[in-house]
Amino acid sequence: VSRRAPAWRGELKRLFPGAKFDDPLSKYTTYRIGGPGDAVVTVRSVTELRRLLVLAGKRRLPVFPIGWGSNMLIRDGGIRGIVLRFAGDFTKVRFVGGNRVWAGCAVRLPQLVIKCAQRGLQGAEPLVGVPGCVGGSLVMNAGTRFGEIGDFVISVDCFDRVTRQEVNLPRNRIRFRYRSSSLKKRLILGALLELKPGNKVDIIETVRKFQQQRLKTQPVHSFNVGSVFKNPPGHFVAKLVQEAGLKGHVEGGARVSPKHANFIENHDHALATDVLRLVRLIRRKVRETSGIALELEMKVVGEAAL
Ligand SMILES: Cc1cc2nc3c(=O)[nH]c(=O)nc-3n(C[C@H](O)[C@H](O)[C@H](O)COP(=O)(O)OP(=O)(O)OC[C@H]3O[C@@H](n4cnc5c(N)ncnc54)[C@H](O)[C@@H]3O)c2cc1C
Repeated sequence: VSRRAPAWRGELKRLFPGAKFDDPLSKYTTYRIGGPGDAVVTVRSVTELRRLLVLAGKRRLPVFPIGWGSNMLIRDGGIRGIVLRFAGDFTKVRFVGGNRVWAGCAVRLPQLVIKCAQRGLQGAEPLVGVPGCVGGSLVMNAGTRFGEIGDFVISVDCFDRVTRQEVNLPRNRIRFRYRSSSLKKRLILGALLELKPGNKVDIIETVRKFQQQRLKTQPVHSFNVGSVFKNPPGHFVAKLVQEAGLKGHVEGGARVSPKHANFIENHDHALATDVLRLVRLIRRKVRETSGIALELEMKVVGEAAL
């Protein structure tokens, strides 16, 4: 902490000795893109989260949660205020009987699916290839055409930023839609999910099939955030982009994946501006060739570089 650093930094460091300042956010995203976060703090319990929000409230600092960072493009100017990460209690998975499982917001979906499979709980297999944490995946209603996380939700535990209390939201108070949900303004702590009983061996076999299918069709070994655009009703973005002649197209360090044209890869030290140039080009060309206006699935967050 430098001498000229604002007073809140010292206060934060005292409360959270692990807090990092001016930390490159690229390391927290699957794109490996993103400018610095003023502060990055990991909370391990609700008590720590409450402490953090009290300080943030007092100092009027925005608090921005991230999970696996697999659906966001953080711009090159980074994020002002506090970037919030979850660990400790938030990585717990509890089987509570009646085919139900509670999973903390920082639990990674592939691990959750495998744990459920080992318990003979069936249904979540389509989520095995989604590299997201439970929190971010609930915000996005992550899934595939074979099933979405929202399908299994009984209730979601949130933290109210104003009252600083935990709130349990039952399913009927949450709207899940295609790659979006009404949870986007909430801080999510975890969720209670309900699956179906099944045969362990069959479930594990299904998990394996979903994993293999993904390896065949998606560029899983490059830096990317999965699908950049939402599929418009009745269309596949990958096909529209290919028809617009942009499969493999490069802008700076970013390129349209040669394997799946709805993926943009950080191919060679890309900046967020490179990805955004490619996004604009794809939108323009697809509109010209098909008349369709594409809507972003990935979230663009943070500030442009000065
Ligand atoms: C190779 C690859 C394949 C993919 N395939 C799929 C797929 O098949 N289907 C699919 O749906 N997605 C897919 N994705 C996109 C991505 O994995 C999902 O959207 C995932 O659910 C995002 O979870 P996350 O934890 O990474 O969220 P993040 O990217 O970290 O965050 C997403 C949003 O959620 C918010 N958020 C995160 N945690 C919390 C919290 N605890 N409380 C409140 N808000 C929070 C963030 O602020 C942000 O707005 C893929 C991505 C990659 C890289």
